Amino acid sequence: MSFLEQIQDFVVGNITFPLTNYTMNRRGVLRHYHELRKSERYPQERLQEMQLRRLRELVTYAGKHCPFYTARFKEAGLLPGDLKTLEDIQKIPPLTRKEVMDHGHELLDTRYLPSIPFADQSTRGPGQPASFARFRKHKLVKNTSSGSTGAPVTFYEDGTITGRNWALELRLKDWFGHKPGVREARLVRLSTDYLPNSSTLRARKRLWHQLILPGVNLTDPDFALSVEKIKEFRPKVLWGFTSALTGLADYIRRSNQDMAGWRPELAISWAAPLYEHEKSLLSSVFHCAQTNIYGSREVGHIAFFCPAGSLHINQEDLFVESQRDGRESTPEHPGEIIVTTLDRSPMPFIRYRMGDIGDVAPGNCACGRSLLVIKNFLGRTGEVFFTRDGRMLSPNFWMRTFMIGLQSQTIERWQVVYRKDRSIHLRIVPRPTFTPETEADIRRHLEKNLSNITPVDFEYVPQIERHPSGKEMLIINESNQQ
Ligand SMILES: [Zn+2]
Repeated sequence: MSFLEQIQDFVVGNITFPLTNYTMNRRGVLRHYHELRKSERYPQERLQEMQLRRLRELVTYAGKHCPFYTARFKEAGLLPGDLKTLEDIQKIPPLTRKEVMDHGHELLDTRYLPSIPFADQSTRGPGQPASFARFRKHKLVKNTSSGSTGAPVTFYEDGTITGRNWALELRLKDWFGHKPGVREARLVRLSTDYLPNSSTLRARKRLWHQLILPGVNLTDPDFALSVEKIKEFRPKVLWGFTSALTGLADYIRRSNQDMAGWRPELAISWAAPLYEHEKSLLSSVFHCAQTNIYGSREVGHIAFFCPAGSLHINQEDLFVESQRDGRESTPEHPGEIIVTTLDRSPMPFIRYRMGDIGDVAPGNCACGRSLLVIKNFLGRTGEVFFTRDGRMLSPNFWMRTFMIGLQSQTIERWQVVYRKDRSIHLRIVPRPTFTPETEADIRRHLEKNLSNITPVDFEYVPQIERHPSGKEMLIINESNQQ
């Protein structure tokens, strides 16, 4: 990297990025990043003290200003002074996605209610503030969750969550040796037709070093255009939906693209786990370090994979629990992830049920950071299946079965349906290489891993429909529907 480029990166990372974000009411991004770089190595006791202090402040605030929480704390008989330890938070019942959908406005600080019509009328994309929001009366921004696993949730923030996400992302990049201002291509939740106008894009490229590319409903012409822009901008970091990054890698490989000597140094995927077959696709095309972000639009970035492969929780800003049947989970019996946002956002999420399965555990990570980790992350509760003899089957089992090794050569597409009677129905689009012997192989593999009391039947089909959102539905779980 030339000296001039180093100066450009420094100016973007330390001046124009934090400053323009400040005008958008995303305050303290750089300061928080520097704090995070220190606190990630604090002893666990000190981190938990910080969490408890912030939790008390949050409960005091939400109990005073958010009608939903006022009622909820009263019902639970909880006063802020009752929070003596972090475990005491369990007195508050978990918050469901449906409650947020039904009571959205009651979760909001009442002082922000007059701002709702302004946020609702905004013509900008979800999560995008009005320009110079910092200096406006109405700072509220409307956002929606992705809704890939159900109806989208609408929520509001004032820039606090986005600012915190930026600081956390700077920390993540720092883990992989990249400083604020590093050039980055971001494949975002916009299709080509809806990309914001070019002056916004130019500003973002110049002032933030971010090249914005489409990340949904992607076709080959979209990828071709993105490849041209990437070759010109030469980002060091690739950031985007797991599906968009693997789609891009697959396009570059299929079309045998000449990337003019460019390759990224880090690929950051998010919004879905990164499975083994996806990891190997990314490494075979990009030959770079990889990480994955676990989080959601509502609560922000919850945890990141470090270079040593642990999924570290961003403990400074989020309190994360894993609960199974009202008790703390164990490595053998992971539970549902429950998240509390510790920052002062006008719409706090207190004990929000994420719908994902995992176990919160001490880090003891080779990277030396003391942040807790999520172990045995098994994916969404709806995608986890319990066999008749009580074994837990995660999506990862099927990914390993069908996407790696021999069977990836014999099967074009697949779908697993868990039936109500706890039997398994496999839909398969076979390739010409699929023979009766292939089915026998798969049956043997399943009998070894599932008990033989789980009936499995095979159906061969010419194609498998996708979800209207374009997402492949690999697992359909009818077993836990009423
Ligand atoms: Zn680590």
